[in-house]
Parts: sequence; C-alpha cells; structure tokens
Amino acid sequence: MEDKNCVFCRILRGEIPAQKVYEDDKMLVFKDIEPKAKIHLLAICKDHFKLLSDMDESRAELVKYMLGKIPLIAAANGCENGYRLIINQGGDAGQTVFHLHIHILGGEPLPW
Ligand code: AMP
Ligand code: ZN
Repeated sequence: MEDKNCVFCRILRGEIPAQKVYEDDKMLVFKDIEPKAKIHLLAICKDHFKLLSDMDESRAELVKYMLGKIPLIAAANGCENGYRLIINQGGDAGQTVFHLHIHILGGEPLPW
C-alpha cells in the first residue's frame, strides 16, 4: 500500500525526480542523493512497508527477489569489485526513510 507522504513512494509515483538505474514491476534502484561511498545506490521495493521487522511471507519473497537482482545491478553500475548491502532498522541504526530499502555501497575499497 502506498503512503502519500513517503519520499520513496513519491519517487515511485514520479513526484520527486531520481536517478534511476534499474526498474521492474517489483523494485526500483536509484542513486542516493547523499552518497556515503563512490557508488551509493538504494534498492526499494514497489510495495510500501516501513521496517525489516514488518516482514511477513510475501514481503520476505520480495526481499529475496531484490537480493537475487542486486548482484547484476551492482556489477553493471560500478561495483564489479564488490559492494556492501545495508538495511537500517529503526532509530538506533539511523533509519530516516521508513520504506524498506537496501543500501548498495561500493565503487571503491570501503572502510571497515
Ligand atoms: P536510511 O538512513 O537507511 O533511512 O536511508 C535513507 C537514505 O535515503 C539516505 O541515505 C538518504 O540520503 C536517501 N535519500 C533521502 N531522500 C532521497 C531522495 N529524494 N533521493 C535519493 N535518495 C534519498
Ligand atoms: Zn513508501
């Protein structure tokens, strides 16, 4: 279910521009507006759900689908030497957008 105020739902509806690198019927991948590495992409699902902890069976299928697609998308976008995936969950992790997303970081050797 879409959320009218959610920034990522707004990107999905085309109300906010994004630098898209991949899109299909289930997911969208675009460049993070404040990159934390040379390559910083965000993979979002087209279904709005807030938290990894909101997982149920169909959402788990969606996340599995995204994880299946990410290796090719990352490699095609400058992360052929590897990348790091991050999902922030909640306040202590610094989650700021409450629409499930997977950070893809790479394009250079990452600290830590
Ligand atoms: P998180 O802290 O895991 O919730 O990550 C949210 C990410 O979304 C941050 O890295 C932001 O820089 C990024 N972000 C927020 N608004 C936009 C936007 N309009 N376009 C692209 N990335 C965005
Ligand atoms: Zn949303």
